Amino acid sequence: MDKHLHQSSDYKYIPMTSVKSRTGVEVADDVYYYTDQIVNICFIGQPNSSEWILIDTGLPFSAKEIIEIANKRFGQDSRPSAIILTHGHFDHVGGVIDLVKAWEVPVYIHELELPYVTGEQAYPMPDATVEGGLLAKISPMYPNEPINLGGYVKALPGDQTVPGLPQWRWLHTPGHSPGHISLFRESDSLLLSADAFITVKQDSFYNVLLQIPEVNGPPRYLTTDWESAKRSVEKLWRLQPKIVIPGHGVMLKGADLQDGLDYLVNHFDQVAVPKHGKYLN
Ligand SMILES: [Zn+2]
Ligand SMILES: [Zn+2]
Repeated sequence: MDKHLHQSSDYKYIPMTSVKSRTGVEVADDVYYYTDQIVNICFIGQPNSSEWILIDTGLPFSAKEIIEIANKRFGQDSRPSAIILTHGHFDHVGGVIDLVKAWEVPVYIHELELPYVTGEQAYPMPDATVEGGLLAKISPMYPNEPINLGGYVKALPGDQTVPGLPQWRWLHTPGHSPGHISLFRESDSLLLSADAFITVKQDSFYNVLLQIPEVNGPPRYLTTDWESAKRSVEKLWRLQPKIVIPGHGVMLKGADLQDGLDYLVNHFDQVAVPKHGKYLN
């Protein structure tokens, strides 16, 4: 395999955290999510099993922590069958280069995200002018240059199946990024929404810090196509998920999820789409 793995040229620590950082929650006996500073990482597989999958890899410098959790949950020196990336933004691929160096496992991502993880293309610069509080204002410091996973990364299968997770399927939920995906398991209506919608008001420093639950549209400063983002939320709403683990914010279920998602779908233009910003047409 290609050994030429590279971090992005603007790889750096992001000084942002929350009260949930370094804590995890078991949502089903085989689904555990862990919060790295302000972003969620999912471990899917039965504890102590040798067959498990990692979904997303957190912020820069998260690999050591992810390996520690993996060892605790699945056994010393365990490694996943594969890593699935929901998209290539810096806060979801932060640990992936170091993890692939340590584990030498394949990585899967939607084919439209491949240029951003093979060193070919940078994401558009985050919109620091967008209506959206402190996280938008500091967004020019976020890495946007591509990482390079070389020969380790492959496109997800075109038939929506997820390698290593026969019960799950992936859904294309673009808008926040071109090849953004969410993952769904029919048997318990469990949805990993990633950044298609999240459960914290990412615009508010305090809401992020305290992780106050509230269904919200995708993080504004990095979302470039609001029409697609809206259709993606509608697509996920139609699944009527019973439990959601988002990319940012806490897990939600029951009426909190149902009511919050209904509201978001019915008021998307008013509550999710910013009133001003460079990615509005
Ligand atoms: Zn994102
Ligand atoms: Zn994110």
